Amino acid sequence: MKEFDLIEAFFKEKGHQRRDVQIGIGDDAAVLSVPAGQSLVVTTDTLIDGVHFPHNTPGRAVASKAVAVNLSDLAAMGAEPAWLSLSLSIPQVDENWLNGFSLGLQELTDYYSVQLIGGDTVRGPLSITVTAQGFVPQNQALTRSGAKPGDWIYVTGTLGDAGLGLDMMQGRMDVAARHKNYLSNRLNCPTPRVLAGTMLRRIATSCIDISDGLIQDLRHILKASDVSAIIQVDKLPFSQAMQDAVVNEQAIRYALTSGDDYELLFTVPEEQKSNLQHALSTTSEPVTCIGQITGGQDKLELRRGKEKVSYEMLGYQHFGD
Ligand code: ADP
Ligand code: MG
Repeated sequence: MKEFDLIEAFFKEKGHQRRDVQIGIGDDAAVLSVPAGQSLVVTTDTLIDGVHFPHNTPGRAVASKAVAVNLSDLAAMGAEPAWLSLSLSIPQVDENWLNGFSLGLQELTDYYSVQLIGGDTVRGPLSITVTAQGFVPQNQALTRSGAKPGDWIYVTGTLGDAGLGLDMMQGRMDVAARHKNYLSNRLNCPTPRVLAGTMLRRIATSCIDISDGLIQDLRHILKASDVSAIIQVDKLPFSQAMQDAVVNEQAIRYALTSGDDYELLFTVPEEQKSNLQHALSTTSEPVTCIGQITGGQDKLELRRGKEKVSYEMLGYQHFGD
């Protein structure tokens, strides 16, 4: 199969088609209309076989992860997603794998009303680069740098599931059969918090998506905002699967240090708390308050109730103060 036929068969005019795409797949470049008064928000992420997803992951799951991690970055900026481009490197034309990949792509583009507008296809080690573009009203993008002492710290969803899912898939953790599907989906097909992200505009003072674990990603906010934080480990939200699989201490460890959850971590000033509850009551996006921003530079304290918890107690020696 030639590159041209491959694009026709798997990518051209598949999935959602948008009116703001003047020229999509098929010419030398795409031509797009950005709505007046909106800023264009652009992000890109590469997934490499055996590094960012296990070797032999089905095409459908790879497509859904490649799209989801990019949409998650847009969500963290408060942007509404619009367009995707795809740079695909494949070792050979495996039609079965490509069918699954194309199906996964269509499912996500349909669900989020985004359009695949172009890309590139080359022969090489399996790797997928997606670029996602979206809109945010001018001056309303969420950033990492606006957190202020006193702001409350929130997360969407539950934490640690992708890490537990990875340990399960690699045979390091035994999990009840009824939770296996949920956990492998949390790892391979994360849910980008697109709706929550757009609703946080003008409510959150800072926002980031959790790709490297709560501690690492919170550190990015603390550094960019020049503040410190207290996290209540007894408030961390866990899935039923997590609660059934491990003791609380280990669940906390997963939540703090394992990556790939793609939940949003954000800060909200006291006076915006009721707006947050109101905005979220119209959606099914769950959020949990897990701590508070404090003064001082880039210090992160963990507490259980009023008592301080040491990083060492969690078997964690990377940071510590
Ligand atoms: P060129 O050689 O001019 O760069 P290509 O032959 O690489 O063009 O691509 C032809 C068309 O197909 C372009 O519109 C390009 O954006 C699109 N395209 C190529 N590969 C992909 C892909 N994997 N997914 C989506 N669109 C693709
Ligand atoms: Mg060209």
